[in-house]
Amino acid sequence: MATILVIDDSKLMAHVAKGILNRCDHEVLLASDGESGIDIALSRKPDLILLDLIMPGIDGYQVCERIKSNKSTAEIPIIIVTSKAGPADKVRGLEIGASDYIGKPFDEGELVARVNTHLRIKELYENLQVKNRQLQELANKDGLTGLYNHRFFQDAVHRDFQKAVRYHENISCVMFDIDHFKNFNDTYGHQTGDMVLRTLGNVIARIMRDTDLSARYGGEEFALLLYHTDHKDVHVFGERLRAAIEEKEFKKDDLVLRVTISVGVATYPHDEISDASKLIECADKALYRAKESGRNRVVVY
Ligand code: GH3
Ligand code: MG
Ligand code: MG
Repeated sequence: MATILVIDDSKLMAHVAKGILNRCDHEVLLASDGESGIDIALSRKPDLILLDLIMPGIDGYQVCERIKSNKSTAEIPIIIVTSKAGPADKVRGLEIGASDYIGKPFDEGELVARVNTHLRIKELYENLQVKNRQLQELANKDGLTGLYNHRFFQDAVHRDFQKAVRYHENISCVMFDIDHFKNFNDTYGHQTGDMVLRTLGNVIARIMRDTDLSARYGGEEFALLLYHTDHKDVHVFGERLRAAIEEKEFKKDDLVLRVTISVGVATYPHDEISDASKLIECADKALYRAKESGRNRVVVY
């Protein structure tokens, strides 16, 4: 069942169409002029609109243009139904965004067939959009941890660094890497290592603000972007993260396993950080120093 809006000043035509569409189990909304038709289109978001061209007040062409130029109603298919059926009128209607054209008086079978065709196209289009969004989401994410992937992180840093510069905001980058993870894998197996990475993804998601960004940067290396966060706050955050992971118990059969991480952080504004690549590079250098100076610690660049 679909909801179909019929905009027609002729009560007779509107009721004939309503009768036919009701018999096909569609819900029908009626509007007897263009303005009220646009209002109903906006408030009810019908699945399809049957639109008369010649009406008092604004005509069908204007109604069509306004519905098509409003983002919230632009995708609703419009079938023009009119006795004004010269080729030039048809072309004009289709050019301003109508999907199809039916001459008046219409044949019941033709009306039903055209309505159902455009409802089917709309449904296919909507399904395609959902699929596209799902694919986009998959393309941006890392399969193991559910965090964003390297490429998405790079794009985000470059875009958001520019914003921070323009609006004079703080922005911080956190890079961290699991300590001696090769040993861990060698001792407990790669699958257990994967379980640790997956669980780390959950820990990170829990600790971070929803508005910040977390990514799996490489194998056992993670990168975070913290907006509106200065060097003091990011230091506190890094320490909280480090402690949370140190305390986290990873359970494997009857074993309780633990890992630690080394954390490097960098914050803009900073004398040496002039672009997004520098921000990442400095967080990475700080991470390297955290490793060198004994691991399981936070170093601020
Ligand atoms: P360090 O403290 O210096 O970081 O030592 P490390 O052993 O962690 O560093 P190294 O870079 O030598 O080794 C990284 C290890 O991370 C190697 C690899 O076994 C492991 N690793 C990388 N990606 C994955 C993954 O997807 N799954 C699992 N289980 N292990 C991974
Ligand atoms: Mg490591
Ligand atoms: Mg590493």
